[in-house]
Amino acid sequence: MSVLDDAVAAAARGPVDAAAALSLAAAFAAAPHDHGDDRGQGHLDALADELTAAAGARRDARWGRTAWFSPKVFLPVTNLCKNACDYCSFRRSPGQAGEWTMRPDEIESWLGRGRELGCVEALLCLGDSPERVFAGYRQTLAEWGHGSTVEYLVWACERALDMGLLPHTNAGILSAEEMRRLAPVNASLGLMLESASERLCQRGMPHHRAPDKRPAVRLAMIDQAGALGIPFTTGILVGIGETEVERVEALLAIRDLHRRHGHIQEVIVQSFRARPDVPMSAAPEPGERELLRAIALARVILDDEVAVQVPPNLTPGSVKAMLAAGVSDFGGISPLTPDYISPGYPWPHLDQLAAACARAGFSLTPRPPVHAGFLDRPGFVPAVMQAHIRAAAPRLDHLAATLHAAAETQP
Ligand code: SF4
Repeated sequence: MSVLDDAVAAAARGPVDAAAALSLAAAFAAAPHDHGDDRGQGHLDALADELTAAAGARRDARWGRTAWFSPKVFLPVTNLCKNACDYCSFRRSPGQAGEWTMRPDEIESWLGRGRELGCVEALLCLGDSPERVFAGYRQTLAEWGHGSTVEYLVWACERALDMGLLPHTNAGILSAEEMRRLAPVNASLGLMLESASERLCQRGMPHHRAPDKRPAVRLAMIDQAGALGIPFTTGILVGIGETEVERVEALLAIRDLHRRHGHIQEVIVQSFRARPDVPMSAAPEPGERELLRAIALARVILDDEVAVQVPPNLTPGSVKAMLAAGVSDFGGISPLTPDYISPGYPWPHLDQLAAACARAGFSLTPRPPVHAGFLDRPGFVPAVMQAHIRAAAPRLDHLAATLHAAAETQP
């Protein structure tokens, strides 16, 4: 057996060690005969299939045949952002067409509609640190009685909780003090690591004009969230110019932080999608095989209690293939609001997704925006938030029963 065969065999037993993970990545990235194994592309393809099978088995052992998702209403609080990532079609500058900041009455209205439609999660998502660079935005917040974005978010999260929705906030880079303020009114917080590659921050690379995408800045915030005992969602972007080895290095960095604090609840494996009117509009998107390999690598590298999640609207490949590669979660799906970050990619209809999961042998099941494993772990979910989560349980049970019934009647 070669080193690669050994690595794939080890992946079936538990999280692969860093050396084995990196050797797998280097082999998949190399030309067929460049990886020290003269059996060629056919052997590499066979290894990728074995890796996928190992990842699926590892998911089965810990997560069973349930595919989770979080029914959410998506509140894009503001699309003003101090960064400018080359693939982003969400961000705007003040005065630019399409700029928005949600007014308090808009937030309340959307929360109310989300609650009526059976949502349980309120996802608050926004550009990075807009008040640090845009005076007009600071003025707007002041007119609404808030001294900072975090203060406005705390207000919005409290309104969501009042309406029976469980907030999950992804507000870009936050200080420890800002996370301390948001944690009591959020079921969980999130920040995509995206990549641990400094190279992608160099001139001409996608994060060159995005100081908050420096890996050290993002890893430091994820580390602080762990020290604060916050259930946390992070993830990687696939196909923004990183190498296969850099992709694995990002997964290993997330695993290291999770092993320090035990706070990573899920890791999103998100595909780059080229959109018009951005600097990377003509960049190639990752193919299905590459993406499924990234999913499988995530599953065999991360510890078993960390869910591997893909957004079904952004992932090339069938639901069956994603599940076979080790996915256990489809993240937040909204019956009400579009995906504001990726508006050209609508979320699937829940009944159809439930039926596709059923055909693959899985049961699509809703969950709150904090995974069940955190609820009885000391130091993570405060008693007040536990009560909010318990109060939402009957609505999740009702939705689960509806979806399971729909899955049986769909062709
Ligand atoms: S990806 Fe996020 S940080 Fe980058 S420009 Fe878009 S909103 Fe800002």
